[in-house]
Amino acid sequence: MTLQEQQVAELEEQALGEIGQAATPEEVEQLRVKYLGRKGRLTLILRGLKDLPPEERKLVGRKANQAKEALEAALTQALRTLKEEALRAAAVREIDVTLPGRRHPLGRIHPLTRIMEEICDIFQRLGFEAVEGPEVELDWYNFEALNIPPDHPARDMQDTFYFNDRVLLRTHTSPMQIRVMEQRRPPVRIIAPGKVYRRDLDMTHSPMFHQVEGLLVDRDVTFADLKGVLTEFVHQLFGPEVGLRFRPSYFPFTEPSAEVDIACVICRGEGCRVCKATGWLEVLGAGMVHPAVFEAVGYDPEEFTGFAFGLGVERFAMLKYGIDDIRLFFENDLRFLKQF
Ligand SMILES: [Zn+2]
Repeated sequence: MTLQEQQVAELEEQALGEIGQAATPEEVEQLRVKYLGRKGRLTLILRGLKDLPPEERKLVGRKANQAKEALEAALTQALRTLKEEALRAAAVREIDVTLPGRRHPLGRIHPLTRIMEEICDIFQRLGFEAVEGPEVELDWYNFEALNIPPDHPARDMQDTFYFNDRVLLRTHTSPMQIRVMEQRRPPVRIIAPGKVYRRDLDMTHSPMFHQVEGLLVDRDVTFADLKGVLTEFVHQLFGPEVGLRFRPSYFPFTEPSAEVDIACVICRGEGCRVCKATGWLEVLGAGMVHPAVFEAVGYDPEEFTGFAFGLGVERFAMLKYGIDDIRLFFENDLRFLKQF
């Protein structure tokens, strides 16, 4: 190796060492100028090649060009490494782990869903199975099989959304009584929660609302069983101190029928606007299943008896949460929904 080659080798080693030490992109740039710039040390050697004897020029030239390539590669690599480190450091600076986390808005369970789940839980603990069915219903299930023939005055009690003569939006969850009894033999113990539809809209009525229907059929079922189940239900939902009373009433699909009142949960029986100063709130319709309903599904009314009941979910939610306008449930105002 000639002296010149030796110098180039040492220069390369020194330059690579310095590039390895460079801590900033500026330092890398300074090193580029120092060795490869117009007056850089390697540049000068390359320029001086022309003064060397031809043999030596060839050897030193090859060595110097190899050194130049090595330095250029090292400089590029050093710059890339420093940039990556800078990016990582910046990212770490932006994440201040001592700051409290950003809060994501949490959804809440709608008050109607909540009360519906609570109602269903109580009946399920009492041994009732929850079943669901179609909201677009046939006249047969909604009226006829429930002992409400076409000319029956009870049809005037409910303003119905019809698609045609046979198809309608169900006006109550009672059709599920028929659908279940058609497919099963007693004992039957079901509740049917769901949406129902009527032409109605004011502070206490919505064209779509929710009901929970209940049905129990077996041998030797009596009105006392009905009273026991509903009393237990009301006590679990509103508290064991809440009184109940059963008033005679009329529904086509039960006989005898009763309206069930509970002592006003707002004023505790003193009399207020919600209970219209009576101290009582009408909350449930109920009764013993009418023999004509059993005949419609092929049950023998001599062999089986049963009771049915129905309640309005919105009414229960209004009472339970002290809400005086049913429309609040459906306006989806977050200020209202956030309170639950
Ligand atoms: Zn009251």
